[in-house]
Parts: sequence; C-alpha cells; structure tokens
Amino acid sequence: MSTARSTGRDTSRSAARGSARSTVLESEEHQALRAAVAALGKRYGRDYMTRVVADGGHPDELWADAAKLGYLGVNLPEEYGGGGGGIAELSIVLEELGAAGSPLLMMVVSPAICGTVIARFGTEAQKRAWLPGLADGSRTMAFGITEPDAGSNSHRITTTARRDPDSGDWLLTGRKVFISGVDIADATLIVGRTSDARTGSLKPCLFIVPRDTPGFERRQIAMELQAAEKQFELVLDDVRLPADALVGDEDAGLLQLFAGLNPERIMTAAFALGMARYALHRATEYAKERSVWKTPIGAHQAIAHPLAQSHIEIELARLMTQKAARLYDEGEDMAAGEAANMAKLAAADACVKAVDQAVHTLGGNGLTKEFGLASLIVASRVARIAPVSREMILNYVSHQTLGLPKSY
Ligand SMILES: Cc1cc2nc3c(=O)[nH]c(=O)nc-3n(C[C@H](O)[C@H](O)[C@H](O)COP(=O)(O)OP(=O)(O)OC[C@H]3O[C@@H](n4cnc5c(N)ncnc54)[C@H](O)[C@@H]3O)c2cc1C
Repeated sequence: MSTARSTGRDTSRSAARGSARSTVLESEEHQALRAAVAALGKRYGRDYMTRVVADGGHPDELWADAAKLGYLGVNLPEEYGGGGGGIAELSIVLEELGAAGSPLLMMVVSPAICGTVIARFGTEAQKRAWLPGLADGSRTMAFGITEPDAGSNSHRITTTARRDPDSGDWLLTGRKVFISGVDIADATLIVGRTSDARTGSLKPCLFIVPRDTPGFERRQIAMELQAAEKQFELVLDDVRLPADALVGDEDAGLLQLFAGLNPERIMTAAFALGMARYALHRATEYAKERSVWKTPIGAHQAIAHPLAQSHIEIELARLMTQKAARLYDEGEDMAAGEAANMAKLAAADACVKAVDQAVHTLGGNGLTKEFGLASLIVASRVARIAPVSREMILNYVSHQTLGLPKSY
C-alpha cells in the first residue's frame, strides 16, 4: 500500500507548507486574512528583521505597513478605529508574520493586552485618547507586571499606589523587571496595588504611565536575546499620575487584569507557532535539497520523522490556540483562561522542539550566521518562560482542572 493511500492524503503537498485549510475550523475570512498577512510578511521576512536587529533599530516599516492594512488594530472596536474583530484575528496576524520570519513582539502587549484592557474597562476619555493610536500603530503601549521579588507569584507584587488626599493624584512606587519595549512605547500599563490592599490576595489596579513621567526610570537589561524589542528594569519613585491614569475600577480585582492576560497568553502562543513554522519550513526546504549520500537527507527517517512530529505538534498547538481565541472572543473568560494556558504551553514546547530540530537538520549550517537559525534557540525559549512559565501552567492545570492539592 502506498504511503499516500495508507495515510489518506496526497503526499505531493508539503507538510511544511502548512496543513490543508478547511472552513470547518477556520472561516474563509480568517483564511483570507492569513493569506494577506503572509504576503506582507514575505515582503519583509527574516532578512529584514536580522538587518533591523543588527542595526539596533526597530521594525518601523513593517509596523507601519501592518498598521496601514488594519492588522495591528484588527481586534479593537471599530468606533475607535479598529477592525472590530477579536484575538482570533490578531493572533492570526502575529502567527503569519512570525511564520514569515518577521514577528512583531509588541503586538503581544500593545493591541492585545493594553488595547483590550482599555477597550473593555477604560473610561470614554481613555478610549478616545489611546485606542485610535494603538489601532493605527502611531502609538504603542508596553505592559509591566513582573517584579524582581515576586517573579511568577504575581500575588506578591508590591508596586503600590496611594492617593494624594489634596490633589486626588496617584503616587506610584515600586520596581518592575523584564518589561519589553518601554523605550519605544508612549506609555506603559503598570500593574500595581492600592496601599490599603497591600496585604491579602492581589487586588490589582492598572495605571497608564507615560514614558517621560518624572520618577519613572528605566534601565536596559543586557539579554542574550537577539530582538528589536529590549527588556527593561523599571524604578517608580513616587511617580505622580493624574486621577484619570487609573484604568477601570480600583476595586474590580483580578477580572480586569485577566482581561489582558488571556490575550497575552494566546498571542504568545501565536508568536511561538509562527517561529516554529518558520524554523520547520527552513529545515524542510534544506532537507529536500541537501544530499550527502545518494538521497536528500530528508529521505532518512532520522531527519524526516522529527520534522513530521514537529508539524503535528504545531498543528495541535494551533488547534488549542484557536479554541482559546474563540472562547475569549465569545466572552467565556474562565474557559478561555484554561485554554489560553494550555495553548501557550503547547505552542512554546512545539516551538522549542521545532527550532532545535531545525538547527540540527542543517548540521554545521545550523550554527552559521548565513542561515540565521541558531539565534532562534534563545528566542524560542522566551515563550516557555514568559508571560507565565510552563511550570506555572502545569500548576494551574493540576490545581484548577484536576483539583490536585497545592505544594505552595
Ligand atoms: C524576553 C522576555 C520578555 C518579557 N517581557 C515582559 C513584559 O513585557 N512585561 C512583564 O511584565 N514581564 C515580562 N517578562 C517577564 C516574564 O513574564 C517572567 O520572566 C516570568 O513570569 C517568570 O518570572 P521570573 O523570571 O521571575 O521567574 P521565577 O518566578 O523566578 O521562576 C524561575 C523558575 O522557577 C519556576 N517556578 C517558580 N515557582 C514555581 C512553582 N510554584 N512551582 C514550580 N516551578 C516554579 C519557574 O517555572 C521558572 O522555571 C519578560 C520575560 C522575558 C524573558
């Protein structure tokens, strides 16, 4: 029996090209969006991103083009200049740009977290002030929750907001670490807690802190990561903010925060899927061409099977990402939380394995600058650590889904 018959599909279609598309799982509109973004990504690609990073710059041209085509604000409400779609559409944009080798990391924070939180919980004035700019790409926002002493345990964050009783202003004090893109963002959405909520479980409140606010200091962290977006340690020393810097309700608790964190996880999954697909594609193309014995190396199952396995893992992770995005967009916040965590874990693991296998497939070329895959080894680890590590996701599923007891 031929392989084609035994697997029930036409093997002339390359696995690395992506799976056959069906409208059962993805609408025609979504497929058209994928194709259009892929075409934009192809115009830029990995060479463009490598040049930008080497020059110490930012992918401004790609950012502007993506914005002009409506991709950056595709999830934001139409009345504020967005596309009226959801995280499903935004994650397609990020995945396809990544699959072309030119992902835009700031999409994870600017339109996905900050745009969503402001659209859902901001005042009318905040929506007017921020959403049109986030949608057309002319303004960018960073997002800061991680603190040096709290790490994965966000309940321990100590960045504290207190009211000046005379002016009604907020005074924000604390430290943040690993915050991406603070230098290029017009403002950072900072997660703090109010002074009367310093003890007990986290009651987060979110503040818009413009980049040049006095007392808002940043120091770039030297990272091994080769990316345009840099990470920063932030010190907030009695940063004075007007009363309307608070987004949403001071007493709303975790609900508002999770409105931003679930899109962040779905977008990180999309980021990882894009990188995984890019690496797999490069490896597959190489394995078809490179011959050191009688046949291309891709004919050896020791090369072919891990690549096939990677393709399967990417497809599975994408399914969960689509589920998470759909649940989120339909307002199922609780169910979306579980799916977003699982999608992020699956996509990050698929990405790490795909990149590792891609580098290996290229032999010595896997480590050359010319082929440019080795730097992805570091980059592929990001989605395993941020925004929440795989261990914390396994903890979440152990406790929340399986009802197992906690060790901490
Ligand atoms: C490139 C990059 C960009 C980032 N961008 C941002 C950003 O824009 N904004 C932002 O707020 N943050 C950002 N982060 C921070 C990121 O979210 C954190 O690094 C992440 O949440 C982990 O926190 P930590 O580094 O303090 O690790 P830790 O909390 O110190 O954890 C270290 C290790 O211990 C494990 N661990 C901890 N607790 C447990 C437990 N209970 N059970 C089992 N294992 C455990 C973790 O899984 C991890 O492997 C970024 C990080 C990176 C690397």
